[in-house]
Amino acid sequence: MRGSEGKAVTGTVTADAVVIGAGVIGSSIALELARRGLNVICVDKLPAAGYGSTSSSSAVVRFTYSTESSVAMSWEGLHYWRDWARHVAVSADGVEVDQGSPTHDALVEFTTVPMVMFHHSDEPEPPYLTHFQNLGIPHEVANPGALPTWLDGVDTRRFGPAARLDDVDHPFWSEPDDTFDVAITCNDAGFVSDPQLAAQNLATAAMAAGASFQFKNTVVEIRSAGTDRRKVAGIVIEDGSGQRQTIEAPVVVNAAGPHSSLINTLAGATDDMVRTSRPLRREVYIGPAPEGYDEEGGFMCGDLDIGVYYRPEKGDNILVSSTEPDCDELEWVDPDDYDTVLSEDEFQLNMMRASRRFPSLAIPRSKRGLVSLYDASDDWTPIYDRSMIDGYYMACGSSGNQFKNAAIAGHLMAELITAVEAGHDHDAEALVVTGRYTGMKIDMATFSRRRAVDPEGANSVLG
Ligand SMILES: Cc1cc2nc3c(=O)[nH]c(=O)nc-3n(C[C@H](O)[C@H](O)[C@H](O)COP(=O)(O)OP(=O)(O)OC[C@H]3O[C@@H](n4cnc5c(N)ncnc54)[C@H](O)[C@@H]3O)c2cc1C
Repeated sequence: MRGSEGKAVTGTVTADAVVIGAGVIGSSIALELARRGLNVICVDKLPAAGYGSTSSSSAVVRFTYSTESSVAMSWEGLHYWRDWARHVAVSADGVEVDQGSPTHDALVEFTTVPMVMFHHSDEPEPPYLTHFQNLGIPHEVANPGALPTWLDGVDTRRFGPAARLDDVDHPFWSEPDDTFDVAITCNDAGFVSDPQLAAQNLATAAMAAGASFQFKNTVVEIRSAGTDRRKVAGIVIEDGSGQRQTIEAPVVVNAAGPHSSLINTLAGATDDMVRTSRPLRREVYIGPAPEGYDEEGGFMCGDLDIGVYYRPEKGDNILVSSTEPDCDELEWVDPDDYDTVLSEDEFQLNMMRASRRFPSLAIPRSKRGLVSLYDASDDWTPIYDRSMIDGYYMACGSSGNQFKNAAIAGHLMAELITAVEAGHDHDAEALVVTGRYTGMKIDMATFSRRRAVDPEGANSVLG
């Protein structure tokens, strides 16, 4: 047998399902499929789970999405983080672990920190507020007279629209006299201590449930069969020495993060996609926290007015990153060839944006942070779907906002694969999945590769 570039394929193994990518999403899918009794092989070109874009995640858990299904999904997702030890348990409650079974070195922790959105009553009501009301998501709507005390020291003026330092039409340092008159707060929000460890927890649990992981192996071919080659047959992987191997499987799941569009092209699965995703270069900045801004006294915010989101970061720091304001150019890149050096100018700009809200924020002279990639879809909503190729599934387009949903995304994908492989026509009638913890209904039509273009849809990482 010969692979795509004429290299010899030296061996063949079989599986019920192959998952491409051992990030937080792929590891979660592998866990859910393995717990359903499938023989799962998860393949990643990197050395361990969570080494891809997952490792750079800000790991914010919030519920402020533009669609009802995304709000329901994130609320359901919170319950997995709260119940993490049980979710990633390597054995059922009370059952002793066999010697030699994989065990966790450590588990991630979830820190509760309120999420605030500033709003003005002269603006249209944000869509998530309606979803909160419909779904019963706990939240508080406060006006200035009743602003929570932890907002003391925060400048709640309306600086927007977000500007660049050389902006002529809207000078960066202009001093508005108008103030936000509403703060919408979710006290159940928070963040996860270590996103890479979260993926490793899921992978360890998946291994304990019978899945195997093949690291340092790159998927170089997706095999298809049947009439018009519209049925997936497996994949070909290549290790560092150029050795190739076929994994035959009737189910292949693309969870390749920022490489997912390349994998979809490799599979020949793009023709009927209305929604696609692309790798977007992103930077995250760390600086010393403003006064009183820590896990006790701080809050998280998707601050579209100044163009950044922020949250407390360990070591008395603040974590800041962009919300893609119109004035900033988006950097679409080749996921295998992009600038991995943090920009000094963008660091200064985004910290200055944050300093508008926090007058006591001291901007350090030297930049600190990281560079990574989003797999951004054109409406900032993920694709959790089947494809035009039978047996080939997509968990793509996570758009910088799906870390929090990894566990529930695994559940959705496993429910989808189970239903479609049993004959369900998901394209004709989208699956509605019931959350294990909350009983909420999550309509997977929202995450279809063929969903209609919504001109009112999301236009930033907030989704
Ligand atoms: C800077 C940043 C901040 C973020 N902040 C948040 C946040 O605050 N809250 C939130 O909810 N979400 C956030 N996200 C989004 C979230 O982290 C991602 O949605 C999530 O981690 C994506 O996981 P993944 O498993 O899909 O992708 P990845 O973690 O990138 O995993 C994909 C894997 O596929 C592998 N792969 C790719 N191609 C191949 C191939 N050909 N063969 C074999 N393996 C392959 C890669 O090696 C990689 O390990 C953020 C993302 C980034 C980058």
